[in-house]
Amino acid sequence: MKVAIIGGGIMGCATALALVERGCEVVVLERAVPGAEASSAAAGILGAQLELHGRGEDVELYLRARTAWAPWARSLGEATGIDVGYRACGALRLAFNAEQHAQLDRDVSWQREHGLHAESVDGHRARQVEPALSGDVVAAAYFPDDAQVDPPSLLRALMAALARDPRAEVRGGTTVERLLLDRDRCVGVKLDEGEVRADATVLAAGSWSSLVPGVPPSMPAVRPVRGQIVQLDERPPSVRAIVFGAGGYLVPRGDGRVLCGSTMEHAGFRREVTASGVHAILGSALACVPGLGGAQVVATWSNFRPHAHGDRPLVGASALPGLFLATGHHRNGILLSKVTSDEVAAAITGSLPVTG
Ligand SMILES: Cc1cc2nc3c(=O)[nH]c(=O)nc-3n(C[C@H](O)[C@H](O)[C@H](O)COP(=O)(O)OP(=O)(O)OC[C@H]3O[C@@H](n4cnc5c(N)ncnc54)[C@H](O)[C@@H]3O)c2cc1C
Repeated sequence: MKVAIIGGGIMGCATALALVERGCEVVVLERAVPGAEASSAAAGILGAQLELHGRGEDVELYLRARTAWAPWARSLGEATGIDVGYRACGALRLAFNAEQHAQLDRDVSWQREHGLHAESVDGHRARQVEPALSGDVVAAAYFPDDAQVDPPSLLRALMAALARDPRAEVRGGTTVERLLLDRDRCVGVKLDEGEVRADATVLAAGSWSSLVPGVPPSMPAVRPVRGQIVQLDERPPSVRAIVFGAGGYLVPRGDGRVLCGSTMEHAGFRREVTASGVHAILGSALACVPGLGGAQVVATWSNFRPHAHGDRPLVGASALPGLFLATGHHRNGILLSKVTSDEVAAAITGSLPVTG
């Protein structure tokens, strides 16, 4: 079976790998450089518990997604020799006042009732876990099982794994102009030059998914939500866990690099880092860990989270036969990448016989 994949971000590349592992022939069509958009810009938080916010419907999915990560990171590392930076570093959500403290306590009790590891600690105990935290922190929720990965390394490992498989082809600099339709079925894609005919086509074009001509009008619209990141370098490293608080987050890589994020902006496709974005991000970071004030600013960037109308990722078969979706993962595309790619690959290989 031949599969064409539109987009070479985490969704396109992970789905390609899941498909070749199931015996399919795959071509990934990426208009720029694979991994160059949201997927490499992400902070890499695998924040299954951080992101639950009491939404019962996501519990099973988020936990399954997180559980899939440790073995996947290991197997990618073994297959390619590239360390994807998976670390089960734990995460803290901070409270700076009584109202936030009460909310944390509710979240923690709800998660513990669901059998999850979560602890509510006072400010003193939080500073025993992370001594660099601000003295203004009155309490914290601690999620020891949340983890992180380094997205640029992850994308490099996926590309390396695909490059080793003769059934996979990744074409950078190749824009999909539209879906090819034949009697109400998607039969591949039309490119800027030529076309690719395929038994199945996967739409994994991130924030640009709704812009590919031919996608069914019933598909919920996917729109960009801009996020900015500021990367710091502090020596020696002072923080180990992921820290959420004061409207932002910190992701320490363990070697002195600290990613500080992020904004949530409806700014179209304006790939800008703004003064107010950096101001807000660094304000939050320093409110959580004041000692970061002496860290060096080494990089800033922004990119676009693909947000699907209705707030749910679009995964699996679409209303158009032959077209499958792997898009709309918004804030949690890295967390959800392995389970999404497996689900889409299973949907495709279950829908048509695998001919090798
Ligand atoms: C600042 C920021 C921080 C984030 N932090 C986290 C985090 O900590 N944890 C987490 O789980 N998630 C995080 N995310 C979300 C995560 O990055 C996304 O959900 C995920 O990367 C989406 O992957 P994707 O493959 O769908 O999209 P993308 O990575 O954007 O890939 C889509 C690709 O499709 C290509 N494309 C588009 N149109 C066409 C076309 N017509 N023809 C060919 N190619 C096309 C694009 O060039 C692009 O490379 C963050 C996102 C941002 C922006």
